[in-house]
Amino acid sequence: DSVVNRIAAGEVIQRPVSAVKELVENSLDAHSTSISVVVKDGGLKLIQVSDDGHGIRYDDLPILCERHTTSKLSTFEDLQTIKSMGFRGEALASMTYVGHVTVTTITKGQLHGYRVSYRDGVMEHEPKACAAVKGTQIMVENLFYNMIARRKTLQNSADDYSKIVDLLSRFAIHHIHVGFSCRKHGAGRADVHTVAASSRLDAIRSVYGVSVARSLIKIETSDHNPSSSVFKMDGFISNSNYVAKKIIMVLYINDRLVECTALKRAVEIVYAATLPKASKPFIYMSIVLPPEHVDVNVHPTKREVSLLNQEVIIEKIQSVVESKLRNSNE
Ligand code: ADP
Ligand code: MG
Repeated sequence: DSVVNRIAAGEVIQRPVSAVKELVENSLDAHSTSISVVVKDGGLKLIQVSDDGHGIRYDDLPILCERHTTSKLSTFEDLQTIKSMGFRGEALASMTYVGHVTVTTITKGQLHGYRVSYRDGVMEHEPKACAAVKGTQIMVENLFYNMIARRKTLQNSADDYSKIVDLLSRFAIHHIHVGFSCRKHGAGRADVHTVAASSRLDAIRSVYGVSVARSLIKIETSDHNPSSSVFKMDGFISNSNYVAKKIIMVLYINDRLVECTALKRAVEIVYAATLPKASKPFIYMSIVLPPEHVDVNVHPTKREVSLLNQEVIIEKIQSVVESKLRNSNE
């Protein structure tokens, strides 16, 4: 049974960056305004995510890491979001099957917090009272300690750390009212460091740099026709002044960081046709549509989505990107 659980957990948590993503999303869900991540050995030795969110109640600690434990299942709309975004109540549980998880948390109005460690879905001991200021800190140590083959394929810790930095960068430019930091354990300076920004452009500037921010054009489009599609999109795209070898596409759908290969390709095609000499673009897009219009077509953890009326949406976005690029080039 524990082997089956471990294999299932290894599917949910495929690399250190998958654990970081789940932990940071939990911190965001807990209404944190500041989230900091510390990583050792590309995440294999240690991933530590600390937030100043609402914390976890004492009574919830015993079952916190059991599979299907979630505090986020309440309305019908949530059910549809769950269907579209994949699993619920699996992330923390999964981490305890492939790593050692320690939670320190305090809820509002309490004089002290609690610390407890988990293994294979269960508490290792009763929660211990401890000092805590605000929010939750989750430590995942020795990730994949019981999956030798996985550990071997993840030996390149620099590679995994850069994936984590990339992820935090993507979070930071969408959740602009949250301050993020990401650093290697023991490092003096952080590789991602943002304070709550006043505008999206400020956030992008502080994460991706002045030259990116300077090259950005604002884009916006929407469709309110239920017979074709219903959606709203806004974002920023780089103009011909931006120089890079690789496309960066940061895509949010209903506030969740996702991938949509079809949309990414479609935008690349517009760039190639409109600015043939330009480099690969930087794109940030946030799309809002009815949750039941989003579908996960590959695997819940891959975050690849497809959309109802995808062709219509893609065409609309292509045409706004094209006209903005043409105007900027004149
Ligand atoms: P899900 O996010 O799908 O509910 P998880 O396994 O990621 O499942 O988390 C389980 C539960 O643990 C959450 O529903 C939430 O109640 C609680 N939780 C996890 N992390 C935090 C956090 N940083 N702050 C507050 N509550 C948290
Ligand atoms: Mg979660």
